[in-house]
Amino acid sequence: MSSLRFDVLGEAFKKHPVEVKLPDGRPDEYFGMNVFNKEKMFKYLPSDVYAKMVDVMDKGAVMDRALADKVAEGMKKWAMDMGATHYTHWFHPLTDTTAEKHDAFIEHNGKGGVIEEFEGKLLAQQEPDASSFPSGGIRATFEARGYSAWDPTSPAFVMDDTLCIPTIFISYTGEALDYKAPLLKALHAVDKAAVDVCRYFDPDVKKVFSYLGWEQEYFLVDDSLYAARPDLLMSGRTLMGHNSAKNQQLDDHYFGAIPERVQAFMKELEIEAMKLGIPTKTRHNEVAPNQFELAPIFEETNLSCDHNMLVMTLMRKIAKKHGFQCLLHEKPFDGVNGSGKHNNWSLGTDNGHRLMSPGKTQTDNLMFVTFVVNTLTAVYRHNALLKASIMSATNAHRLGANEAPPAIISSFLGRQLTDLLDSLEKSSGDELFKIAGKTGKKMLDMPQIPELLIDNTDRNRTSPFAFTGNRFEFRAVGSEANCASAMIALNTAVAEQLMDFKKAVDKLIASGTDKKEAIIKELQKLITYSKPVRFDGNGYSDEWKAEAARRGLDCETCPPEIFKHYTCHDSVQMFESTGVMNLAELAARNEIKWEIYTKKIQIEARIFGDMAINHIIPVATSYQSNLIDNVYKMKGILGAEADELSATNIDLIKKIARHVKAIEDGVNQLVAARKVANVIENEYEKAMAYYKTVVPKMEEIRHDIDKLEEIVDDRLWPLPKYRELLFIC
Ligand code: ADP
Ligand code: MG
Repeated sequence: MSSLRFDVLGEAFKKHPVEVKLPDGRPDEYFGMNVFNKEKMFKYLPSDVYAKMVDVMDKGAVMDRALADKVAEGMKKWAMDMGATHYTHWFHPLTDTTAEKHDAFIEHNGKGGVIEEFEGKLLAQQEPDASSFPSGGIRATFEARGYSAWDPTSPAFVMDDTLCIPTIFISYTGEALDYKAPLLKALHAVDKAAVDVCRYFDPDVKKVFSYLGWEQEYFLVDDSLYAARPDLLMSGRTLMGHNSAKNQQLDDHYFGAIPERVQAFMKELEIEAMKLGIPTKTRHNEVAPNQFELAPIFEETNLSCDHNMLVMTLMRKIAKKHGFQCLLHEKPFDGVNGSGKHNNWSLGTDNGHRLMSPGKTQTDNLMFVTFVVNTLTAVYRHNALLKASIMSATNAHRLGANEAPPAIISSFLGRQLTDLLDSLEKSSGDELFKIAGKTGKKMLDMPQIPELLIDNTDRNRTSPFAFTGNRFEFRAVGSEANCASAMIALNTAVAEQLMDFKKAVDKLIASGTDKKEAIIKELQKLITYSKPVRFDGNGYSDEWKAEAARRGLDCETCPPEIFKHYTCHDSVQMFESTGVMNLAELAARNEIKWEIYTKKIQIEARIFGDMAINHIIPVATSYQSNLIDNVYKMKGILGAEADELSATNIDLIKKIARHVKAIEDGVNQLVAARKVANVIENEYEKAMAYYKTVVPKMEEIRHDIDKLEEIVDDRLWPLPKYRELLFIC
């Protein structure tokens, strides 16, 4: 008997790279060709409409219905020239995916036929119903309407035959049901708060942009092998599987030569991303076998979040054309690295100040230090919430598992910046300005920072929030997540902190303190206050866990507990004072996080039970029967002599029996634990029950299954093994 596994292995080995057709022209010529960007607007809109639209996009001017109608007309014309027949409002429900419902560009013409139609009202707002998306109770009442409304700051694009219009998704009563609505509010809040602080240094600053550059990690698995793994198919990760003898020990995959089939996939992915205006730049092999990374050039945060969602869609789609499945799960394989999505974040002004980069003058550098210190303070104040913003059932496998950032949010600054903050903290503000004033000599020698930081090569891979010379890198974000979740929390926290900073400095100024001195005094306070969040050592060590707890940082590792921070006092105050979300919206987000956590584990537990009973036990007992048969026949031929010679097989028969029994008992207990959890009504308590009883039980049973994989005849084993999933491409 041979298993399905050998058939699919045969297929996997037969695959060749798919030839990728290059588009006409150079990359700069096809970049953005599928996007209704300013260039297309200029061509398809009347000049007055174009000018108004630029004001809406760049300056936040109000979009009225008449303008929307005219833009819709031009947008439709362009989309139809591109071959589109349908349009959709494209939005980000709270499921970490994107949603779309396609409608054709047609309406009744009143004469029994149809006409092509796409009015401004369809562009600006729709009611997609979509009542099955999680709303955390916001839509539980009879009034279950949800509206999608156009986000003109992210350009519409054509995918296949459909015009996609980025939208927010809100309830009838105005509560956000998605990621984009609160993200836009968070970006507005940080813009406003940062502009106010920037004006201490440069009165000409009019707008502050938040920038995001993500690095997306992913695995590719041959699609034939994938199809033979129900766990990958249903849950995105392997729920069982004995470690491969070789995995990432030799570090020979990291930055290695990219395999040909993968290279073809990457090439097509990059071309399609470029056509959608996504500036893809970097690609390389990652640490684990069959793990890769893609990073574009950073963009404004809202657009960058949209682009990340689009890239994940493209990855899944294009991988299939190349005979792969793209795994975006944070931990598809036990024993090798999981996948994250580093979020490189910074702020910059409309007139060229990079607020996370040291500048050339003393003023520039005081501005730089102001923003760094306020960011650190915000991260310190809300370290628990930031962790909640990136935590999920899937990312939980990665955080704290000695590979990715630990489940404690701290910040690495590097030696130079640490020294700088330490010396700023110690020098008294008065002294600093007396010296600067009298002799012109700058005590902190701040103009020298650029050179120091440019040479600052020290890096700390274990830090979840590391300063990397001109930005902070939030590394705890999960590969599958919508970046917006982390970006909402971070930008709002920084906005709140900048508002508080401004208030404190203004108060000092009002009481007669010189402006610069007031700023320095406040910074000194914040440097001292935020010190517990600064940590440059090894984030994986047990000493750090103990030390972090002493410092009062949040060390919780249980996801349902971590989610609670959305509604703790400090978070509610932060979100409400900045106008980003109200208590009802936050409570809803909590409910949804618990609900999704429960459902994900529930699905895993069901597949797990099925695989254990339908795949593993039949194969193990079948092999055991072969062994029993052999023992009987040996006895028949050799008589008493067989007792000694069959000892190994008898031992194996017993081992298999024990593992099979443990699996059967375990699955029964797993089902019982689920039954108990399922009737719990409270979402938090239900999630906790899954965390405490279902998750550990699966781990326990997995141990017995993986042992069987080591024992059972390789020819019988039905599931593609780790060595095959990880090394065939
Ligand atoms: P790493 O060394 O961490 O692999 P990369 O050079 O690959 O970093 O860049 C990571 C990401 O950081 C890219 O998307 C890049 O565009 C982005 N990035 C660079 N500078 C900034 C900045 N000032 N603000 C935000 N993102 C930035
Ligand atoms: Mg990085």
